[in-house]
Amino acid sequence: MNGPLIQYEAAREAWLMKFSSEALVAVLITDGNWNHEVHQLQNRELRESILSKRINSRMEVDRIIWTPSKDGKYSAKTAYTVLSEAKPRVKWHGLVWSKLVIPKHAFNTWQLLSGCLPTQDRLVNRKILNVSSCIFCNNCRENSKHLFFECSYTREVWNHVRVLLDLQVDNRNTNRLWMSIFRLCGRQTSEAKIYSVMVCATVNYIWGERNARRFQGKSQTAVNLKIRLVKELRRYLQLQIRDIPDTSVIKALVGRLGIITNFRTNTFIPCTWTRPLQGTIKINCDGAVKADGSGFGGLLRDSEGQVVCAYSGRGFSSSVYQQELNAVHKGIQLAKDQGFTKIEVASDSLGVIRTMNKMEEPPWDCQDQVREIRELAAWFEEIRFYHAFRETNRAADYLAGIGVEAESFICFIAPFPVELCIILEEDKNNKVYLRFHQCR
Ligand SMILES: [Zn+2]
Repeated sequence: MNGPLIQYEAAREAWLMKFSSEALVAVLITDGNWNHEVHQLQNRELRESILSKRINSRMEVDRIIWTPSKDGKYSAKTAYTVLSEAKPRVKWHGLVWSKLVIPKHAFNTWQLLSGCLPTQDRLVNRKILNVSSCIFCNNCRENSKHLFFECSYTREVWNHVRVLLDLQVDNRNTNRLWMSIFRLCGRQTSEAKIYSVMVCATVNYIWGERNARRFQGKSQTAVNLKIRLVKELRRYLQLQIRDIPDTSVIKALVGRLGIITNFRTNTFIPCTWTRPLQGTIKINCDGAVKADGSGFGGLLRDSEGQVVCAYSGRGFSSSVYQQELNAVHKGIQLAKDQGFTKIEVASDSLGVIRTMNKMEEPPWDCQDQVREIRELAAWFEEIRFYHAFRETNRAADYLAGIGVEAESFICFIAPFPVELCIILEEDKNNKVYLRFHQCR
């Protein structure tokens, strides 16, 4: 706040002409709000970025914030992350480093995909060998593309695995094939884990067969290799897979592989919007961050389920946490303004609720606001913060959606839009919402 304005990169460009290099951020603030200098800025991005910063109303002294960590405090761990350059993730990350993949198989696949498998072509390039020839067909040079996909021997093995897994791959060329394998194996599903195990195993078995032929003079037919591969991997997967979700895709997959396992059943938990006790006001609040902006909203209801007032506001920051916090803040402020002394605050943001109940530190850029909310909360005779399932927070969710499009903060009373009226009636009539739950 009292730091030199010149330190703010974006501001420097825009205001270097206007203010002296010693100017403080305070020149942009009048009566605790961002002043016309900010509002008149032509650069929309910069304007909104500044407006999204809350001004500490008490104008406390500046403090040092270590922005890489969530709570703003320095730690060696975050410093290490900042210092070690972030490397882009390779496309095959999910395939090779899936937990279920046998490490030896993962290693061979990693060698293959990062281009360091010692095929004969590579050895010729390094002048270690004079000629390169595929040991399976003696028809082609031995490089990874031919060895693993184009050779008639390996094609037979791959086709068998592909049909068994029902892998929907793009077979037009080797590149497209790998890309579709990476896509299928990179997903966060149980079937993707099994695909990864089988794909990496196939690579390992083909490489193993190539080495057995080259160095031990032993060979087995493609038919034998594919049968052994499936048999051994079936045994491995049978031991590894304890229970998996009950979906048709995974059921069919383990069925084809011949694995017997338990399926987790899915259930639905019923939940309803609950009324506050008589004499207490319940605030439901919610934040929304969408592609076209962010906002927050909420509403105050009494023990009959009647709406005292509803509110929506536009947010400037794209942090969901920030919007959820704004929703809580405004709701409590409204309750205080209207003289309610007993309130309960329900939010579907577990993070905000945990923060308000002092179970979790807020992010550093929300600490001032959290302190303000706590001071506000101290005014009430009774106040309780608790988590509400998203399904029972629909009215607030609707109002947060209005907030995204709102010009400024709005507080309104009935009549409400039809969609909101329907939700309010359903809440009041104890509509049961079914919440999906996966049993462990
Ligand atoms: Zn070949």
